[in-house]
Amino acid sequence: MINYLYQEQNWQTQLSNLVTDPAELLELLQLSPEQLLSGALLASKQFKLRVPRAFVGKMQLGNAFDPLLLQVLPHHLELEEHEGFVTDPLGEEQANQQPGVLHKYKSRFLLTLTGACAVHCRYCFRRHFPYQENLPKQDDWPNIRDYLVSQPDINEVILSGGDPLTLSDRKLQLWIERLESLPQIKFLRIHSRVPIVIPNRINDAFISILKNSRLRIILVVHSNHASELDDFTCSQLSKLVKEQITVLNQAVLLKGVNDSADVLVDLSYRLFDAGVMPYYLHVLDKVKGAHHFDRSPQDIDDIYKAVLANLPGYLVPKLVREIAGEKNKTPLFGVSTF
Ligand SMILES: *Cc1c(COP(=O)(O)O)cnc(C)c1O
Ligand code: SF4
Repeated sequence: MINYLYQEQNWQTQLSNLVTDPAELLELLQLSPEQLLSGALLASKQFKLRVPRAFVGKMQLGNAFDPLLLQVLPHHLELEEHEGFVTDPLGEEQANQQPGVLHKYKSRFLLTLTGACAVHCRYCFRRHFPYQENLPKQDDWPNIRDYLVSQPDINEVILSGGDPLTLSDRKLQLWIERLESLPQIKFLRIHSRVPIVIPNRINDAFISILKNSRLRIILVVHSNHASELDDFTCSQLSKLVKEQITVLNQAVLLKGVNDSADVLVDLSYRLFDAGVMPYYLHVLDKVKGAHHFDRSPQDIDDIYKAVLANLPGYLVPKLVREIAGEKNKTPLFGVSTF
């Protein structure tokens, strides 16, 4: 492990000093540049390498197959075309009523305030999503408010991404206050990978914003492997749990990263050490460029059965897929349901 002193550096500095050059990433990890086949550089032009140094610090030196590295390093296989792997697997472009919002599930309303992420995950279903044209402007709030009021079934707003925790506290506070002004909104969910890749994002100012809100706050982090959860990261997450904030984790089942029951069992126990409950285990969305992370339904089923057999029920994440047009995430169990 490399010590970047990231525990002392503020999160904004870390966010402005990401590793974006594949050659630098390999050098930091003491890997030879031959790890990068020419196609990988092309892949990194399509979806740029972006990774915080704090996350690089959790990778193993000299290991080209490190499960954290595989999630972020551009790969020539991303350029292959595969049947069924498309740019918009969830049909989100159609579902968009107005910029930056998605209302597909009855009680929950998804709000995208930024297209930016701290880390670019190679398997991400949003790698082709045209965010920048698709964000609410500050003055879109009256429209969003009118829409929410017209849909009284909505009681929860989800800040999603991009990654909402790349926004300043001031901006988050502004949106929280706006949502608090609507009595129908009871729950605020924040979906973010930042606490895993830049754990210093969870600082006192952020905690006090959450603590002082009348909304019930649920933070859903995204960690795929126990190695992402070093002691410092866990202690940061625990701070939120101590303040009565519900912290859940979602993971994606990824070939080469966490496609074994042992790795998934370790992940659940490690999350629980930090007070975080496993929530979802997503099967891969069939997004163009991510085929090399895919496993067959039969394999996934076998892995999940072993997870069920080896964990207490409360630490088993729900295995789900998002299917375009469905009213909720679809639970998978038994190959026939795939
Ligand atoms: C995943 C998702 C949600 C949240 O679903 P939960 O099952 O409540 O976690 C809400 N809206 C959209 C569009 C989603 O994709
Ligand atoms: S939206 Fe989440 S999964 Fe996708 S690149 Fe950003 S952090 Fe990674």
